[in-house]
Amino acid sequence: MPNIAALHLERPDWNGVLPFFILRAAHYLEEFHGMAELTLDCAEVPAAVQTLWDNSLGLMKRKISIRCGVTPKPEHQVFRAPDFLMYTPSGSLSLGIPEFPDLTDFHLHTRLAYCSENMDVAAALQMERLSGVSHVNFAEHSGQLYAPGEIYWSNRFLWKDRLPFADRTPQYEELIRRSPAALYGLELDVDADAAVADFRSPLLNGYRIGAVHFLGKDLDFAGKKADFLRRLDALLSGGIDILAHPFRVFRKGGLPVPEDLFRPVAERLTAAKVAAEINFHTNRPHPEFVELLLKKGGMISFGTDSHNLYEAGYLRPHYEFCRELGIAGRLDEILFRHTSERTDVSKSKR
Ligand SMILES: [Zn+2]
Ligand SMILES: [Zn+2]
Repeated sequence: MPNIAALHLERPDWNGVLPFFILRAAHYLEEFHGMAELTLDCAEVPAAVQTLWDNSLGLMKRKISIRCGVTPKPEHQVFRAPDFLMYTPSGSLSLGIPEFPDLTDFHLHTRLAYCSENMDVAAALQMERLSGVSHVNFAEHSGQLYAPGEIYWSNRFLWKDRLPFADRTPQYEELIRRSPAALYGLELDVDADAAVADFRSPLLNGYRIGAVHFLGKDLDFAGKKADFLRRLDALLSGGIDILAHPFRVFRKGGLPVPEDLFRPVAERLTAAKVAAEINFHTNRPHPEFVELLLKKGGMISFGTDSHNLYEAGYLRPHYEFCRELGIAGRLDEILFRHTSERTDVSKSKR
């Protein structure tokens, strides 16, 4: 049957993380393989699980549906970590990356993100572990820790105008204290004054990701490009390890991706020894930019930018991107990764 993929489930446990892996499979099959239906060979799923799936697929405007039904029997094959084999008309597909162990996912959100769908640190760590990911870095939006939601989303947050009552950094510290061991860092926001919303704490033992989420509303395209570089420079001088989703702000704003910025951004990142993130959360990385960056001696990093538990450890698209670009064999040399001597934020480039 065309456009229908199948998963063989042995004794499905609907109370654990399995529903999130199935959700991940559906997102992957629709986004990268154009599948219209994922069929599970099991009895009915609980209503709450079906609702979770429907909501998540609806939120991302996916066309795929998940159903129970009779599937072509994949003889003796079992759905299990880290392969998560799925069966499609063109053969079987894997969700795991057995080819490449010891990965770090540098970019996950917690329940404190205004845009969190269902994040939970312990469950996310379990998803990562089952996905074969070795190190996990939570990176909460610093702007969201300082600004109320409506101020943040309307691009009106200013570091100099931050309000003490809206400061949620103690909540992030409390969450870290109560959570299982992991790396805890920040996704640093930069405001219209090019001031970086920053937060230092002994509890932050993780990596600092910088992100440009907003550009000046009233600027024309040339102005927006200049604004992007101005904000990037502020992030780089603030001391970051990774630039999150490098040009996503243009894509999300319905603008063309400014290819003339590829060179200046690649040069800035390389000079600052800051990695460029490969990010598929409502985003696609740009192969030409990555090629140019690597030619200049730069580094890349993998981040899922998880807002929903199904994304935690979902690095298959990142790996496929590298494979298609012909750089998967060089990951040892070009992929920024966690090293165990890196345990204290005071050691960051500053
Ligand atoms: Zn971001
Ligand atoms: Zn993020």
